[in-house]
Amino acid sequence: RAKSLGRGRLQMYLPTLQTAAANRLKLEEGLRRALAEAQLELYFQPKVDATARVVGAEALLRWSHPELGSVSPADFIPVAEETGIIISIGRWVLDKTMESIAKWQRNAVPFEGSLSVNISAWQLAQPDFAEMVSDCARFHAVEPGRITLEVTETAVLQDMRDVVQKLKQLREQGFRVSLDDFGTGYSSLSHLRDLPLDEIKIDRAFVIEVEDETAHPLVESMIAIGGHMNLDVVAEGVDSEVKRERLIRMGCRQFQGYLISRPLPEQAFLWWLADRAASLRLSG
Ligand code: C2E
Ligand code: MG
Ligand code: MG
Ligand code: MG
Repeated sequence: RAKSLGRGRLQMYLPTLQTAAANRLKLEEGLRRALAEAQLELYFQPKVDATARVVGAEALLRWSHPELGSVSPADFIPVAEETGIIISIGRWVLDKTMESIAKWQRNAVPFEGSLSVNISAWQLAQPDFAEMVSDCARFHAVEPGRITLEVTETAVLQDMRDVVQKLKQLREQGFRVSLDDFGTGYSSLSHLRDLPLDEIKIDRAFVIEVEDETAHPLVESMIAIGGHMNLDVVAEGVDSEVKRERLIRMGCRQFQGYLISRPLPEQAFLWWLADRAASLRLSG
């Protein structure tokens, strides 16, 4: 009985395993071509304050695969990291981010905030990471303060001393540093003390809970600690007015999420900004 049960299980699992492996191989091969064949694109999601003023935006990577269609970064970033392709992809993302904000500035786009870019642990570990970032900004004539580097605690923990030193160096030049997905993974309050930070982003997993009627001591405390440390506190995944209102009541001042806007392709994001600016002029 046990044997047949075992075999039944195997028969159930094998096809999925094979599909997973095949998909993975497809992803890996595809990623190598994605860069060369311009299948990667940056989307932009605005970040607003409690008065709905745009205070920044986050660049989010999208990949349109010729066969698989649109592949989520949640699926391909891990593969890119395992294969090392993340280094060239990450460099491409940084370059595109800086190129975009430089272009917006030249074209008088109504965007005054900082543009956030996600940095992988593997990029942070590169000995020349700090030079790469500052060279890129210099090349595009972008003021460092207009760029926010989003790092995660997991990434920082790989080699805390080394990463702290690199981030300090970048912050001294004016780049902003944000701790992404705060509250998940290997969170420790001591990271807030040891890391050179300008901002924390409260993970969507915590923001989701705010919808319940019950008290939210964790979210409220995270917001308070960030405030006491003079950090900007951003709530991510704000997708309802109820969440936004509760977060405001808890003292949160910055919001990102579907309620404000989904991540948009560049042109759509620029239209969104222009619309915003126009309605602000009308109302005030
Ligand atoms: P993240 O940096 O925490 O980005 C936030 C994710 O939440 C994004 O998913 C965004 O589209 C999604 N999101 C924003 N608002 C809402 C909302 O209201 N509801 C829901 N359900 N989701 C919301 P996305 O774009 O799929 O990216 C997933 C993750 O992939 C990112 O998480 C980041 O860790 C990574 N990633 C994205 N772009 C890059 C990149 O250029 N480089 C690196 N290294 N990682 C990236
Ligand atoms: Mg992020
Ligand atoms: Mg995040
Ligand atoms: Mg997240």
